[in-house]
This record gives sequence, C-alpha cells and structure tokens, in this order.
Amino acid sequence: MPNNPIHFVGAGPGDIELITVKGRRLLDDADCIVFAGSLVNPEILSGCKAEIFDSKGMDLEQIIQVMHASWKKGGNVVRLHTGDPAIYGAIKEQMQQLDLLQVPYKVIPGVTSASGAAAALNAELTLPEIAQTIIITRQEGRTPVPEMEKLRDLARHQTTMMIFLSVGMLEKVVQELTAGGYAEDTPIAVVERATWDTEKIIRGNLNTIAEKVQQEGIVKTAMICVGKVFGQEELKAVSKLYDPTFSHGTREARCD
Ligand code: SAH
Repeated sequence: MPNNPIHFVGAGPGDIELITVKGRRLLDDADCIVFAGSLVNPEILSGCKAEIFDSKGMDLEQIIQVMHASWKKGGNVVRLHTGDPAIYGAIKEQMQQLDLLQVPYKVIPGVTSASGAAAALNAELTLPEIAQTIIITRQEGRTPVPEMEKLRDLARHQTTMMIFLSVGMLEKVVQELTAGGYAEDTPIAVVERATWDTEKIIRGNLNTIAEKVQQEGIVKTAMICVGKVFGQEELKAVSKLYDPTFSHGTREARCD
C-alpha cells in the first residue's frame, strides 16, 4: 500500500498568489487534483500536470473513488478546497471515508475568505475596547444551524461577525441582527469575490445594506462583515502592544 498522504489543500480566497508555498508545490507535483470548481479560481491549476476533476458535479462517493484510485497507483493526490479547508469545507465526511479505506491524509491550511474580505476592507477585526472576538457563522437556510447558534443569539455579543454563505438571505440576516440588538447604524460591509480581479465592496449599515446589495445584484460568493470595526469614522484604535507605558515580554515600559 502506498503511504503518501492525500493532501487537502486550501487554495485561498481567489487571488492565485494567496496559496501557501507548500500548497503550490503539492499542486505542481500532483498526479490527481479534485478541486471545488464552484469557488476555486481555475487559473490556480494552470501549468499543473495532474489529471484534474471538478467536484462541482460529483457526489462524495465519486470524489473518494477518484482520489482512492489514483492514490492506490502511488499517485500524488490533492483535494483542493476554497479558502481554508477547515471552514465550511465539508472535509470531515471525506476524511471519514478515507479512514474506512485506511488512506492517510494531511491538511494544508489556506487563507480563508474571511481574511480576504478583511484585507479588502483594510479592516482590523479586533480593535482594542471595541471588539476582541470574531464570530464566524452563517444564516440558517436549507442547512440547519444548531439551536444555540442562531444569528440573533450570536448578535447579542455585538462584536465582529463574519457571515458566510448568507448573502442570498441578506434581508433575513439584517432582521436577525436587529432582533439580536445591533443598533441600526451598525456598519456592515459586503465583499463579493474578495481578492479576485472582480472584487466588489459595498458598505452601509443595518438600515441600508440590503437595498444596496440588491441593487448591485450580489447573490453569492460574498462575505457579510458586521460590526463597529468596519466603521469609517475615526475609532480609538490604540493597542497595548505598542503603548510606550505598557511592558510586555519583549519590551519594557518607557517611564519618561
Ligand atoms: N472554506 C472557505 C469557505 C467555503 S463556504 C473559506 O475559508 O473561505 C463558501 C462561502 O465562503 C461563500 O458563500 C462566501 O460566503 C465565502 N467566500 C468564499 N470565497 C469568497 C470570496 N473570495 N469573497 C467573499 N466571500 C467568499
């Protein structure tokens, strides 16, 4: 039996240079690549010598079968996921199947689209005294969300939220956030295709965002970014890290 693992690789959010060096090398060395065609930028595959499969039209069984067949022959297999595979990547179900087949695997992380969207907005998601917690979540739709994680309950924390997979339900999202207690003037930005050449940024607040996004016709592949950190007014954004009167592990406080 071959012992090289199948690699689950994070492709990053879109810009093909936002893959890790290790991920790039594995793609270049691969004999078989199964990629998530609905979201991964196909340009990332240009120059690859591998046989390439788009998982868009495949079910779990077919994906596993294709990867297993190549692996059995000693091939280098890459399963290429968008962003970071650990976030809404549906990797666990694949791993369980590979466990049954006794096929080893390894994950190479990627730049999640939450980071891609934050970068597009020049945002710091964790501002001192404003938000020190980031909630990654989604609006319930056809995929149910556990009872304790309803958007309106998470909204009670009034911190930074990065909402995936939900732009098509933006009105519902706004209702839930409002019911959870966010003020109507809470800043929201929607970033469509962050880091792609076609990236689009819509800024607004709870009152205005749904209409603006509808006018732009954005219905998928977008991040809903909610919270005071996305406001464009001056915020007190001074961290203790560089505060001259604050000592820490690598620097003594200045007393002058
Ligand atoms: N594993 C991926 C997420 C997959 S779920 C990651 O870490 O990014 C798919 C959702 O991710 C989309 O519905 C959208 O909300 C978000 N998404 C993926 N790529 C995006 C991009 N380039 N810009 C904005 N949102 C994106």
